[in-house]
Amino acid sequence: MEKMSQTQQCPYVARCGACHIGEKSYEEELAQKKEYVIRHIGKYCSQIHDVAGMYYPYHYRNKVHAVFGKIKEEVVAGTYAEGTHTLVPVSGCLIEDAQASAIIQTAAQLIQSFKLWVYNEDTRRGLMRHILVRKGASTKQIMVVLVTAAAEFPHKNHFVAELRRHHPEITTIVQNINDKQTTMVLGDREKTLYGPGFIEDVLMGLRFRISPSSFYQVNSAQTQVLYKKAVQAAALTGREHVIDAYCGIGTIGMCMSAKAMHVTGIELNAQAVKDAKANAKRNNIKNMHFVAADATEYMTRMSQKGERADVIVMDPPRSGSTEAFVRAAVSLKPSRIVYVSCEPETLGRDLAWFRREGYHAKEASPVDMFGFTECVECICLIER
Ligand code: SAH
Repeated sequence: MEKMSQTQQCPYVARCGACHIGEKSYEEELAQKKEYVIRHIGKYCSQIHDVAGMYYPYHYRNKVHAVFGKIKEEVVAGTYAEGTHTLVPVSGCLIEDAQASAIIQTAAQLIQSFKLWVYNEDTRRGLMRHILVRKGASTKQIMVVLVTAAAEFPHKNHFVAELRRHHPEITTIVQNINDKQTTMVLGDREKTLYGPGFIEDVLMGLRFRISPSSFYQVNSAQTQVLYKKAVQAAALTGREHVIDAYCGIGTIGMCMSAKAMHVTGIELNAQAVKDAKANAKRNNIKNMHFVAADATEYMTRMSQKGERADVIVMDPPRSGSTEAFVRAAVSLKPSRIVYVSCEPETLGRDLAWFRREGYHAKEASPVDMFGFTECVECICLIER
């Protein structure tokens, strides 16, 4: 079968701003992403491979978020137009999972028919704020998170029953309470309304539990491509102590654990660490442990104690790592560092810090996880 190369059209593209679908072909986009990577890290890394693209670059997002609002008298679900507070109703988005999109539309209709009050960001009144749907690409388990401005949720049981009647594919429903004036979607209180309160997914033969707030890569098919490259770059023999910094629910470290002596996962989000521990147990992995800590602080403490590591994997958020982390990482004297980056610009900055410490980028393999957006993921191998 030939790769999908014809670009599909989206009716919202000009107003929504979340992606740039339809502006150029997917192949052109991949070429531009490679240029972007070269622009930011070319100075530090001579070997930059072509971007590994998706086989079918549509409906890849396994995590879909929408904000509720009212347009005239109608309850709608959509997104704020980029950089504004104007709600653009979106249905049938081309990059989002189609089942998740359908559930979101049903939820908006139910809010209308149950006469529930939609939250208004300006007046700070109303109840229903956001909806988040996450799907396990291989298990097909689906989690719906309804974000409300208050704990009180009128007709809650009936609402949940109706949502499930329309979508029997839903495996869990969680109410998240967010009463703050914030751009963050999720608040810190949660009530499970149906099912276990989390979903599971299978990746690289391992089973992972995912909670509402835990980070999990949004593009499952490309995540496997990415993780395989990370495992390859780590070149493990079974004797290494590996550090998986910024480990989320422990996915990368667990994929490496069978080929390592021991893996230490470091993650700031306590809920993600809880998931990570459950995941290790579930997959019968006994040579990995997790610490809930700021990666820089923990690495600095390891460095002060004179500890060593053979391979360091790091996968920081878009803001990248810190100079102190780089210093601490280098002092553990690893033979290789596998940097998984979702932002070439901060990767470039961090590579400059590594170079100053005598560690050099050998090669970089970009992977497209977010088709039709500006983002590009990159695996970068750094050696002494
Ligand atoms: N490696 C994981 C997660 C990567 S996302 C995966 O592939 O799924 C980045 C992760 O870094 C998130 O889970 C986030 O909670 C965590 N994080 C952000 N800042 C951190 C910090 N200062 N210290 C440790 N972890 C941090």
